[in-house]
Amino acid sequence: MPGANYILNRVQKPARYVGGEWNIVRKNWESVSVKVAFAFPDTYEVGMSYLGLQILYYVVNSRRDALMERVFAPWIDMEKEMRERRIPLFSLESQKPVSDFDILAFTLQYEMTFTNVINMLDLAGLPLHADQRTDKHPLVIAGGPCAFNPEPLSDFIDLFVIGEGEEVLSELLDLWIDLEGKANRERFLVEASRIPGIYVPSLYEVSYKDGKIQSTKPILGEIPVAVTKRVVRNFDKVAFPDRPIVPTTEIIHDRIMLEIARGCTRGCRFCQAGMIYRPVREKSPVTLVSQARKLVANTGYGEISLTSLSASDYSCITDVVRQLLDELQGRKTSISLPSLRVDAFSIELAKEIQRTRRAGLTFAPEAGTQRLRDTINKGVTEEDLLTAVSAAFDAGWSALKLYFMIGLPTEKMEDIEGITLLSRRVLEKGLSMGVSPGRAKVTVSVSSFVPKAHTPFQWEPQAAQDYLIDMQKTLKKSLKEKSLVFHWHDPRVSFIEAVVARGDRRLGKALEKAWSLGCRFDGWSECFNNHLWQKAFELTGIEPESYAYKKYAYEDLLPWDHIHTGVSKKYLIREHQRAMSAEVTPDCRAGNCPGCGLCAEFLTEPELYGGRKIAEIQDVV
Ligand code: SF4
Repeated sequence: MPGANYILNRVQKPARYVGGEWNIVRKNWESVSVKVAFAFPDTYEVGMSYLGLQILYYVVNSRRDALMERVFAPWIDMEKEMRERRIPLFSLESQKPVSDFDILAFTLQYEMTFTNVINMLDLAGLPLHADQRTDKHPLVIAGGPCAFNPEPLSDFIDLFVIGEGEEVLSELLDLWIDLEGKANRERFLVEASRIPGIYVPSLYEVSYKDGKIQSTKPILGEIPVAVTKRVVRNFDKVAFPDRPIVPTTEIIHDRIMLEIARGCTRGCRFCQAGMIYRPVREKSPVTLVSQARKLVANTGYGEISLTSLSASDYSCITDVVRQLLDELQGRKTSISLPSLRVDAFSIELAKEIQRTRRAGLTFAPEAGTQRLRDTINKGVTEEDLLTAVSAAFDAGWSALKLYFMIGLPTEKMEDIEGITLLSRRVLEKGLSMGVSPGRAKVTVSVSSFVPKAHTPFQWEPQAAQDYLIDMQKTLKKSLKEKSLVFHWHDPRVSFIEAVVARGDRRLGKALEKAWSLGCRFDGWSECFNNHLWQKAFELTGIEPESYAYKKYAYEDLLPWDHIHTGVSKKYLIREHQRAMSAEVTPDCRAGNCPGCGLCAEFLTEPELYGGRKIAEIQDVV
């Protein structure tokens, strides 16, 4: 990176930009046919905490004919220095400009990083719009959960990978090599659009009538009308990096991440991950213990985090935790479970975990009353929560975190009051069990509901910002005990998140305007600038309320309807209707398949260990 040495002493955290960590892969550029820059549109500390990066880095670098290097969004200070000295965006491994790569691959984990995507294209010296780029430029691709509504970024991205990337990325690289992709960009895009799970937005045309989407259609006959997500089969054997990169600077999740399962069977009606990562697939205990052994040996970390959407749902979690602790005892390695559901938590599990260091525990009841928990299909009761927290207090924890949402569909004042009552009950439980008042602490974290594509709540509007701000104030006032700590998420950020999450192609110009006005790192409270966002909407004539506050009818064509998760719309409508009458739908892990349609479509079924079986798969109900 020419000139970078002069600027590293002028920026915060230079370690973000130097590379050279343990276990990185540095290949000879001349020896490979395709070079991929993996771009994470947030800081190094956030990006390096993301397991998907390590997995795809491993998948691509395992190939002899390809290489992958990493690039992160430079923080504000670094961007300023880079722009002043005309230093282009560069990769960490070889410090080469991003424009020298064949493919620039973004992962889209969060809507509030979209202005960083645009900024990184600009810093790389690339034309922002896909239709302005030529054979001289890298192909710009994107994947991750936000690609399930790709439309707001469709002006900027050449193609999207929908679903799990392990296999489809390799297929894409094979095609690139076969077709000499860089020299045949247009042909490559057409051929790529035939790979299942690939969406090329320039090959689809959107028409509107009276401001509403009327159709989204392919412009060529041989292109699929809808793009169906990719799912990894035989998850137990899927490529897994047993030699992950170990950062030399502190990152957000600074520990081994061992992915124990993918997907979730619960069917919470607000949760996009629960819909897009179906079906649930678990890794076998034998695989997990073997992977853990290698990970500890190859990284030197003292903590393993068992990751999945809901770690305690793993069929034989207590057994696996015990086996891992036995295996790792001599190495002083602790285990943490970052995502716990209140009902599956057991005293036994709490005790197993605290055999070593005691990590923080977070429980997510999400809503303050039973009626609202049933509406969102959370499927847990107050008794479940109190049993779970009792187990935690009994096992020695004194500080717990509770996570709630406000603005959920059908919410009433009593649901808001319920958050305070429930939090107070948890605290009282701890005190009654002998936790000293000086040490007892319940952190109550409250965010705002954001309607997400492909969920039963995709048709629902977000609650008005003034209402959300009022409710946050109400909660702040009522949670006044010293041992109850209130954390809240800025509803103005949630509003932009809702606009982007339900956005269509027309929103791209507002994103670009927001970026050009200076929006960066919008998910960071110190960077978020609501005024600039409002100005961007004004200048582009976009009414953000029409995205965030719109209540869709079931017959309306949604901006993401041509992206198919495998979960049928009929099922989502039924789930929405059941939500409105606060009816719960059982978990398919418990043996009742509620017929979301996915297993029938993908000719698959959930992969569970520990002897549990799912009852016969139902067709779409
Ligand atoms: S089809 Fe049934 S078993 Fe399969 S993911 Fe959907 S609800 Fe679960």
